[in-house]
Amino acid sequence: MLERFYPDIYIDNIFLLPLDEFKKRGIKALVFDIDNTVAPYDMAEADEEMIDFFKFLKKQGYRLCLLSNNNKKRVEKFNEKLETLAIYRAGKPGVKKLENAIFDMGVTKKQTALVGDQVFTDMYCAHKAGVLAVLTKPICNRDQWMTKVKRGLERKVIKAYLRRMAK
Ligand SMILES: [Mg+2]
Repeated sequence: MLERFYPDIYIDNIFLLPLDEFKKRGIKALVFDIDNTVAPYDMAEADEEMIDFFKFLKKQGYRLCLLSNNNKKRVEKFNEKLETLAIYRAGKPGVKKLENAIFDMGVTKKQTALVGDQVFTDMYCAHKAGVLAVLTKPICNRDQWMTKVKRGLERKVIKAYLRRMAK
């Protein structure tokens, strides 16, 4: 019942992406949520660290995409220096925009991983689309109020997931 919200891989932050495992699994494209996954939701622009990290991933041969439920202004501003494929109002956990992105990147769903911080939007979306679901801890505990409401429930799901993994 809760499985649809569980991650396939759970990491502390995006700098700990398991690139060796991605290689084994044939992952060629990385789709990132923005808010609290790659940046605090109130950080308007990508910082040097993120710009360098995206450059590094590109050099490794990954196709990259930002996929955010946030608005056009937020997503375009954040993507200004990253200059990658960026999709706003993605409607996660709906899969339509993700499927379009996978098509645009010229990969298959099996070759794609979605990296996000929310189980009810990002992980559920990843499973519905059939891509690898990678959960990160949220970057900071500042959240938009809607997100805040969901966090209590999220923690319950993550706890259940961790209990399962410990068995
Ligand atoms: Mg997020």
